[in-house]
Amino acid sequence: MAFLADQLRRIKPSATIAVTDKARALKQAGRDVIGLGAGEPDFETPDNIKLAAIRAISEGKTSKYTAVDGMAELKAAVARKFKRENSLDYKSSQIIVGTGGKQVLYNALIATINPGDEVIIPAPYWVSYPEMVLLAGGEPVAVTTAMDTGFKMKPEALEKAITPKTKWIIFNSPSNPTGAAYTRAELKAVTDVLVRHPHVHVMADDMYEHLVYDDFEFFSPAQLEPRLYERTLTVNGVSKAYCMTGWRIGYAGGPEPLIKAMAMIQSQSTSNPTAVAQWAALEALDGPQDFIAKHNRIFKERRDLCVSMLNQAKGIQCPKPEGAFYVYPSCSGAMGKTAPTGKKLATDEDFVTELLETEGVAVVQGTPFGVGQAFRISYATATSALEEACTRIQRFCGNLQ
Ligand code: GLU
Repeated sequence: MAFLADQLRRIKPSATIAVTDKARALKQAGRDVIGLGAGEPDFETPDNIKLAAIRAISEGKTSKYTAVDGMAELKAAVARKFKRENSLDYKSSQIIVGTGGKQVLYNALIATINPGDEVIIPAPYWVSYPEMVLLAGGEPVAVTTAMDTGFKMKPEALEKAITPKTKWIIFNSPSNPTGAAYTRAELKAVTDVLVRHPHVHVMADDMYEHLVYDDFEFFSPAQLEPRLYERTLTVNGVSKAYCMTGWRIGYAGGPEPLIKAMAMIQSQSTSNPTAVAQWAALEALDGPQDFIAKHNRIFKERRDLCVSMLNQAKGIQCPKPEGAFYVYPSCSGAMGKTAPTGKKLATDEDFVTELLETEGVAVVQGTPFGVGQAFRISYATATSALEEACTRIQRFCGNLQ
């Protein structure tokens, strides 16, 4: 349609949002659907956080605009968090708060990308990274990783992908969609390469930092390699660890000129993130943290359940990841087979569509994450529902001819 911007032809809708919407609509229409699409915790926002928001409303603290880049009190809490958990020092002028990690990442790309600039993105990647790069006028460069290396990028592959046009690498560990998390040694191998290429900036998306299992120790890139500090944007948010996806609060610490540019973009688009959500985020960062370990024990159980049950499904191979709340099984063993409806499964999209139609299990196909013949399961759902969903997947796979 001539009315719409040419730019839109470069991008596609978010597959994670599309599957979530589809599952919600089917449920509302009365279908028995188990949604494993949305990447969001099923747990409620903890009470102390909700109460902080209610108190802020009652005390009249939420009716006015706040500073565009986040209120001073919250920026101070973000600075404390970076210091306490990542040994990173950021002054208030180096911090921005936005409407979810998504807006923070988007602002950073819009603020820095010139036409033709390249952004390295290890694949499988979160569906929105390449699309945001394209919207900003840049070129996403995928570095494909494989299941047999735990979906982790080899330093040689990174080195090979770097060109004089590389502006950023978007690094996400633990990863959406694979759950893969880089150990200290694996991360060091990556940062060693980056140190040798001073024109490459690092967008570290640490959103799943707290969601790691089996005593895994998390490191943020600029924490592990201080020589990258000056060119790293460390992005995080309260959505996942604090069960606050709906509140939409993300934040970042980074070089002052970059943060200033991102704030300028925000000042001309959305202005401040919602005041009440900022007060809630302040309590999340400063308040008790003990529920995170409790949630993680449950997430770990669910991960183990999923991995074990999926590996018993015919044609499915499911590695065990270190973190996040996703598994990313291969369905290559089901490709070319025929479903009971008569539909031949040629792609992972066919696989997930038939699975939803016949068994009422919603998962996201792998192709939009950059590595196909696979699908993503979010196991952040009630354990009983998860068990039932895996049983249905086993039945679905068993019935393929
Ligand atoms: N990050 C989540 C997911 O991948 C939320 C949905 C989205 O924004 O993509 O499911």
